[in-house]
Formats: sequence, C-alpha cells, structure tokens
Amino acid sequence: MLRNTWAEISLSRIRENMLNIRRSLPNTVKLMAVVKANGYGHGDIESAMSAIRGGADYLAVAYLEEGIRLRDAGLKHPILVLTPIQPELVQLALKHDLALTVTSAKRFSEMRAIKPYGSESKLRVHVKMDTGLGRIGIRTKQEWDELVPWLRSEDVEVDGFYTHFATAGLADTSFLNQQASRFIEMKAWGSSSGLDIRHYHCAGSIAALRFPDLAMDMVRIGAAMYGFYPSQLSCPVKLNPALSLHSQLIQVKQLAKGEVLGYDNSYRAEEDEWIGTVPIGYADGWTQRMQGTDVLVGGRRAPVVGKIYMDQLMIKLPGPCAEGTHVTLIGSQGEQRITFSELAVHIGSVAQEVSTSLGVRIVRTYNDFEEMRPRWDKQTWPNEINQAVI
Ligand SMILES: *Cc1c(COP(=O)(O)O)cnc(C)c1O
Repeated sequence: MLRNTWAEISLSRIRENMLNIRRSLPNTVKLMAVVKANGYGHGDIESAMSAIRGGADYLAVAYLEEGIRLRDAGLKHPILVLTPIQPELVQLALKHDLALTVTSAKRFSEMRAIKPYGSESKLRVHVKMDTGLGRIGIRTKQEWDELVPWLRSEDVEVDGFYTHFATAGLADTSFLNQQASRFIEMKAWGSSSGLDIRHYHCAGSIAALRFPDLAMDMVRIGAAMYGFYPSQLSCPVKLNPALSLHSQLIQVKQLAKGEVLGYDNSYRAEEDEWIGTVPIGYADGWTQRMQGTDVLVGGRRAPVVGKIYMDQLMIKLPGPCAEGTHVTLIGSQGEQRITFSELAVHIGSVAQEVSTSLGVRIVRTYNDFEEMRPRWDKQTWPNEINQAVI
C-alpha cells in the first residue's frame, strides 16, 4: 500500500446489517440496496455484492454512470437510477438494462422520441411522486394524467411508483404522516390507471426501520446498510458501522509553550507539548470543519490543532510517540471510540456526509473478501474484485 492513510471496510458487517434489516421486515417486502456515491464511500461494487448476500433484491444508484459501473462489474440484479437522466441518454440506459426514474410527461416524451416504439428492449421505469420533499417528482393529478398515456405502451414496464420522505429522522412525525397519506392518495391514482405497476415504495432506511408499516412492496436501504442511524433515535435493529479510518504519524516534534503552528498561525501551544503530523487533509474529504475533533493515538484521544491542510493535519499528542504510530480517525482503540455520529454532529451533518466525502486518495482495504468467496462462482466475480483478492 503506497499511501499510509486507509479505510478498512468490513463487508461482513454490511451483509449482517442488511440481514438484520431483512429480518425486521415481512418476507414479501423487497430490499433495494442503495449504493450511490461509491456505496456511500465504501466501494460500490463491494457494497452491492455484500448487500446481495444480505438479502437485497434490487440495487439503486443516483446517476447513470454509477449503474453502468455495476453492470460492467458483472452485477445482474435490477438497478434503479434515482435521478432523472438526460433524455438523450436513454439508449445507453437500455443497453445496460437500467430502470429509470420518470418525473414528467415532457421528459418522458423526450426519451420516447429517441427510443423506437416496439423495439425488443423494454423501457423499465419507476415514476417518482413528490409528496412534500419538494425535490423531484409529480405533484398533481393533472401531471399524472398527462404521463399515463405515455406509459401505456407495450414496450414500457412500470416497475415502480415511489416517493421519498423529508422528515423520517425527526421526532415529530406529523409531516411524515402527511406525506404518507398523500402517497396513499396518489397510490390510488396508480391502481386506478389500469397500468400494471409492480412495486409501490416510499421508505428509505429510517422510515423502513422506524415505521415498518410503510414498507409496502419495497424499501430503499442506504445509510442503514453501512451501519448509520441517527444517534438521537433508538435503532430497532442491530447495525454496525462497516468503515473505519486509519493513518500513521509521519512526524513528531515538541513545541515550546507560546510557539505557533498552522496556516495563519492558527494554533499556539498552551504549554510545552508534543505535536504529531497525520497525512490526511481536506483534499481527502477531511474538511476544515473537522477542526476541533479528536483522533485516537495509543488508545487515547488527541485533538486536532490548527487549521487542516490540503494533505495533512496536526494533532496534540498525549505524550511523545514514535513516528509511524497508528492513528485512528474513525473507529476504536482500546476503550476509546470515534464514531461517525460524533463527527457528523461536529460538522452539523449526517454520517453519510462524512463517509461520502472520503476522497479517492484514501485507499480502501476490505478485510473479509474471503468470506464472500464461496457464494460467488469465480466466473461471475467482477474482475476488479478478482484482482483485489489475488
Ligand atoms: C439516497 C436515497 C435513498 C437512501 O436513503 P438512506 O436514508 O440512505 O437509506 C432512498 N431513496 C432515495 C430516493 C434516495 O435518493
């Protein structure tokens, strides 16, 4: 490994998280594993395979190119692209057998103009309804009525009809209930349209776990499969974060009381103290907002001091340490533990912002490829994974 800053990802944890979610829901509910943004930073192909072993039936990504990557890796499960694609790319989506999100008759008719009627391949779509998130989707009955004739075509398969909640993580459930009722109303538009709609779905991770009654035909699980759940809620199933982040001290020095360090002299030593330099910075996704957090060294907490640089940061060590000493930025050392939730609270965001920010320069290591091997015929293993195992 050339870089001494790395993320360790436990694929068995992703699988176990998914299995625990699977067990908490009726067997009739399908599980869609959301592996957008490189599997929330955990590796898209690896996460998808682990999720499938944990019982996932479907995969989802945000963008077309993410779906193509999964197909190129040899994954055969149905894949939904959650963000509407540019209509002119419809042939590319068809070629890779990707299901598309549809949000209006206009956009759909533009796609239709490119995909010839009656050609062999089916255009598989999930219609997105906006029940209150206000992001994308159909909001009115009139918009739905305009779309329906376009969907009533031999070569169009309406695989899904879905919405997304705005407040699934809030203690106050009134807006969620409002969205759920609106979706039930819209569902009736779907069932009375005469279209053969295969799956109705509305719940992401939090809604699926908190309100299993909203699971309907399918749930879309992202955050929870990586082990994330809002810390202010109690999680009804056992979830473990799959990723930990590590580095090493590349320099250790003593600073005398009153000496300064960092860009803009951002830190002044309060006493004679030991300072370590860690090779991770904002270009790796460890943003300047991480100033004021801790890392772990020798089983103890060490605060980040001064501004975070592009490629390094500095910490105040508990005492003298050897260069090369192991540093844990996310994960545990002895009794001490730095969690995604702790970092998320510090930056005023959610765990998945921390994990998806981890840049491409951070090496991903997978500590249990071996465990996955037996279920996968070597022939069907994606090449990248074969190479990584060998
Ligand atoms: C990202 C995404 C999800 C996954 O949400 P989690 O909270 O991470 O489980 C589900 N549905 C849609 C539409 C999404 O964009």
